Amino acid sequence: MTDHALYPTDKPSPKIAIIGGGLTGLLTATLLERASNHTPMPFDNPQITIFEKSRSVGRLATRYRSDSETGKNWQWSFGAQFFTAKTGSFQQFIAPWLQTGLLQPWCANVIELTPANESIRAPDTQAPDIQNKEQWDTVHARYISTPKMTSWGRELATALKHTTIAFKTRVAPLDQYTQHQDTLHSDSQKTELFDEAGTSLGWFDWVICTAPNGQAVELMADSGFSEQNKIVQPQMQACYTLMLGWDKSQPLPETFNHQAIPQWDVAYVDSAIIDRIFIEHQKPAHDDLLPSVTIHARNNWSQAHVDDDMEAVKEQLLQAAKQSLNWDEDSAPSQTDCHRWRYAATIVNKDTEELGILVDETKQWVVSGDWCGQGNIESCYQMAQQTIEAIWKTE
Ligand SMILES: Cc1cc2nc3c(=O)[nH]c(=O)nc-3n(C[C@H](O)[C@H](O)[C@H](O)COP(=O)(O)OP(=O)(O)OC[C@H]3O[C@@H](n4cnc5c(N)ncnc54)[C@H](O)[C@@H]3O)c2cc1C
Repeated sequence: MTDHALYPTDKPSPKIAIIGGGLTGLLTATLLERASNHTPMPFDNPQITIFEKSRSVGRLATRYRSDSETGKNWQWSFGAQFFTAKTGSFQQFIAPWLQTGLLQPWCANVIELTPANESIRAPDTQAPDIQNKEQWDTVHARYISTPKMTSWGRELATALKHTTIAFKTRVAPLDQYTQHQDTLHSDSQKTELFDEAGTSLGWFDWVICTAPNGQAVELMADSGFSEQNKIVQPQMQACYTLMLGWDKSQPLPETFNHQAIPQWDVAYVDSAIIDRIFIEHQKPAHDDLLPSVTIHARNNWSQAHVDDDMEAVKEQLLQAAKQSLNWDEDSAPSQTDCHRWRYAATIVNKDTEELGILVDETKQWVVSGDWCGQGNIESCYQMAQQTIEAIWKTE
């Protein structure tokens, strides 16, 4: 079926495959490269390949559209909006990019917004009820990547020295074609991976899967992975994201300049459909954008509508957004777009312990991803750390 890729016999540098080029994959490669330069890591310069099925890095996603008249952009961070760094080690890790300004704290002015149709305070008006909630600060900072949310991922990818990233390469489920032992080198544990067409992607000493939970279940099903029963434990929910843009010459909805709170950046919305509203063009280093707003729907609402027709979903989201932002014919957005995240959020049960990465020491397979932790960007870093420790322990 394939030509088997050969691997070195004298084992100085293990070959490591990372499935998924999201933040977990990129951070794992970064920490592996760094760790291999320090004793007591048991090997030098691992040869790492990241296989990513799409053409860019994971859920740190930015979409933009250019206005032909002004040449300016509308821009939406339609995945993660910001991230936290609660642990000292993650704070230390991100410090260099805070110094260059690529990462910046977002001291957003946050409000609570109740759409008129849901408000008991102002039932007779069309205007939503708006109350001050909080101001984010630099002590418990929320960080963004500039000029785009994708910029940090790109920077991490560029800095990798011993890692090849194969974009547009979808790794096939491990049971389908995978061979667990090279007959030429049967003394050592190797895994051969294949793409969906059955073409060999090479032999690897370690395989690290960082796909979202639902995709990890499919990738590892019937593969003999010793921790398979734990992959199905976390519950994931979907999220629809609505992206709105206004022309430069257009009036903006009055809700953006509410008399009580003239400039707000983030709204926590008290509605059955909408969860949060983010004003993109007011973020640090985003002020050259045309007015752009990202809206995340509630996870439970999104999950209930996950297989619905996209146009029907978009229409419902636009109606809910209109009720929250209260636009009229003149101030209606000229740009509208909608994205479905099928595996957006890990349902975190505060009473149960975090899953952590799943390791099959015999096969030298690791299943990782944000969903093994709290389902956020900081978890990607923590899972990358756990993976390095697991490899170190086994090598
Ligand atoms: C709408 C939304 C809002 C969010 N908001 C926040 C927030 O405010 N703060 C925060 O900290 N986090 C937030 N998050 C979570 C954050 O985006 C994730 O924690 C993080 O991006 C997950 O990174 P990851 O690498 O684990 O997974 P992913 O980014 O999903 O990367 C996994 C990669 O694996 C690839 N892949 C899957 N299967 C295969 C295969 N067979 N072969 C090759 N490649 C494959 C996928 O294409 C994907 O790129 C949000 C997420 C969403 C969707």
